Amino acid sequence: MRIGAIEAGGTKFVCGIGNEHGVIEERVSFPTERPERTMESVIDFFKNKQVEAIGIGSFGPLNIDPQSPYYGFVTTTPKPGWANYPFLDVFRKVFDVPFGWDTDVNAAAYGEATWGAAKGLDSCVYFTVGTGVGVGVYSEGKLIHGLVHPEGGHVLTRRHPEDRFAGVCPYHGDCLEGMAAGPAIEARWGVRGSEIPARHPAWEIEAFYIGQAISNVILTLSPKKVILGGGVMHQQQLFPLIRSEVRKNLNGYVQADEILDRIDNYVVPPGLGENAGLAGSLALGLNALKRSRR
Ligand code: ZN
Repeated sequence: MRIGAIEAGGTKFVCGIGNEHGVIEERVSFPTERPERTMESVIDFFKNKQVEAIGIGSFGPLNIDPQSPYYGFVTTTPKPGWANYPFLDVFRKVFDVPFGWDTDVNAAAYGEATWGAAKGLDSCVYFTVGTGVGVGVYSEGKLIHGLVHPEGGHVLTRRHPEDRFAGVCPYHGDCLEGMAAGPAIEARWGVRGSEIPARHPAWEIEAFYIGQAISNVILTLSPKKVILGGGVMHQQQLFPLIRSEVRKNLNGYVQADEILDRIDNYVVPPGLGENAGLAGSLALGLNALKRSRR
C-alpha cells in the first residue's frame, strides 16, 4: 500500500510516502513560502508516485467541517497568501484519491495513538511547543473537532509570581502561546531558547505555564497519555519540571496511578520522535482510504 502524507507546517512542508504499518519509505521537505510556490513543489513530488490516498495535517486555523463550502481551507492565518486559501481543493484538482484533512496537532495525536507513545490507548492529548503552541485531542478512539477545532495553545494561564513578561500573542497577550512558545522565550530573555542553559530559571517558568495547561487538560479531557513535542521540548530538562508542576497543581485529587506513581510514563515525548506529524498525516490518509472503501 502506498499512502501520501503531508505535514504542512508554518516554516516547512514535509511530504512522504508510507505504508499501512506507518513505515515512511520516502520523504522530502520544502520551505513554506507563498502557497502557489509551495504547492507546486508538493504537487510535483506526488506526481507519478501512484499513491492510493493522501493525508494532510496542516497548520491552521483550518476549516475541517465537511458540510461547509469552505471545507479544506486555511482560514485566518497571518502567513502571507495563506489566509482563506483553498488548500484541499488545489490537490483535489490534481489527484483523484481520497484525502484525509485535519490540523497538524490532531494528526500528530493520531500518529501517536496509531503507532507511537499512545499505541493501544483510546485517548491521548498531543501538545506541540515550538514557534506556536498547539494541542491535538484524540478521545474515545477519534479525533475531536467540534465547533471549529480545539485551540488549546491559546488557553489562559495564571501568571508565574516572578514573571513580569507581557506575553506575545497578538490576540491575547499572555495566553499559553503568548507566554510559552519559542518567540515568547526569546522575547522574555533576549536570546533564543536553544542558547539558554539547562539550569537557567527560564525553564522553571516555562514548566510552570506548560504544567498548568496539562493539568487543565487532565481535568477536562482525562486523556490516557499526554505527549509533548515541538522544538522547545527538545529541552529535555523540561520534562521532570513539567511533571512536578502537574503533580503539584493536581495535588493528589485525580486518583490515577498514571499520575500518582508513574507520571514519567504518562507525560512523555513523542514515541515517533520527529516523525509524529508525518506519520499522523499518513494515518489520516489510511483512514480516508478505508472510509472510501466502505
Ligand atoms: Zn493567544
